[in-house]
Amino acid sequence: MIPVKGYAAYDASSPLTPYDFERRELRSDDVLIDILYSGVCHSDLHQVRHEWGNGIFPMVPGHEIVGKVAAVGNKVSKFKIGDTAGVGVMIDSCRKCNPCVSFMEQYCVEDMTGTYNGYERDGVTVSQGGYSTKIVTNERWVYHVSDKLDLPGVAPLLCAGITTYSPLKYAQVKEGDKVAVAGLGGLGHMAVKFAVAMGAEVTMISTSPSKEADARKLGAHHFVLSTDKDAMKKAESSFNVVVDSISGNHDYEYLLKLLCLEGKLLVVGLPSENPEVNPFELIKNRRSIIGSMIGGTVETQEMLDFCAEKNIVADYELINMQYINEAYERMLKNDVKYRFVIDVSSLK
Ligand code: NAP
Ligand code: ZN
Ligand code: ZN
Repeated sequence: MIPVKGYAAYDASSPLTPYDFERRELRSDDVLIDILYSGVCHSDLHQVRHEWGNGIFPMVPGHEIVGKVAAVGNKVSKFKIGDTAGVGVMIDSCRKCNPCVSFMEQYCVEDMTGTYNGYERDGVTVSQGGYSTKIVTNERWVYHVSDKLDLPGVAPLLCAGITTYSPLKYAQVKEGDKVAVAGLGGLGHMAVKFAVAMGAEVTMISTSPSKEADARKLGAHHFVLSTDKDAMKKAESSFNVVVDSISGNHDYEYLLKLLCLEGKLLVVGLPSENPEVNPFELIKNRRSIIGSMIGGTVETQEMLDFCAEKNIVADYELINMQYINEAYERMLKNDVKYRFVIDVSSLK
């Protein structure tokens, strides 16, 4: 077994503390990664606080992982020692069902295996995430990362990046489309960058007046404060796509109202309470609500290649592992610019 240092939540109400554990020895198709950087996703916070009702403790969160390949199994073909590589939100799936053979493993009929807070395919081993020094993963769920990119800024692409890239592609966002992004956090700021890169006219919808200047720096063409009733009224029926990347409890109604004829509400935010939907707002303009979960392995590599080509990375604040509990508190106050990324060398 391979000894690893990490940080874990021991239960839903205690702060994260140091936790030593072991990774499995490499199987023939496994890759061992020495983790350099690990992004901090709001899903980490939802899960360590047991907000989705599925917490397995002790839990080492982290599913935005970038590092260097330190060893490979004898059948690994995609990677060699020294490669820069990433791991995202999933590390396995049944590999046989229709979504799996179509490389949409996140929709596996037997459920994907989460990078942490899940069970491996043996049904017993608990998966542990990237707030740790090393990870062992089957090569299918490991991605090539361009060394041209700023590596701490790449880590958040593995969840926040793919989670916003995938629905924008699915909605076929193109030059001239009007896209609104609700919630300027980790996912929201990536949604702005991708929608701009796809040629859309982008509007940021935020509860935080202080984020207007940043939204514009990220490339948003317009900014609307969601608490400004007049501005929200004016924005009604004007967007082809609204991306909902909101972490806190909210209704869909005010976002649905923003959609024009056949507009799509792309839901990626996962608040702890179910949002209400007013069917009258849904039938108006023949609007639709489309949910989207991260992205498959092929699409994740495509997104990373797109980012390398367009020089897109996340805006981040680099933190030491020991700062994580404070980082969570700041996240709850919407005070993240725009992703915390853990410098994993602080764990050693
Ligand atoms: P984050 O960095 O904390 O950003 C969330 C933003 O939402 C906040 O900065 C804030 O933006 C806005 N917000 C928070 N509470 C709100 C409320 N009650 N009403 C309106 N706006 C509110 O979170 P994140 O890491 O981007 O994650 C966002 C959500 O996506 C989380 O629920 C997460 O679990 C989920 N997620 C889903 C997937 C998926 O596969 N679908 C993958 C990853 C994450 P403003 O200050 O601009 O208002
Ligand atoms: Zn995430
Ligand atoms: Zn499957």
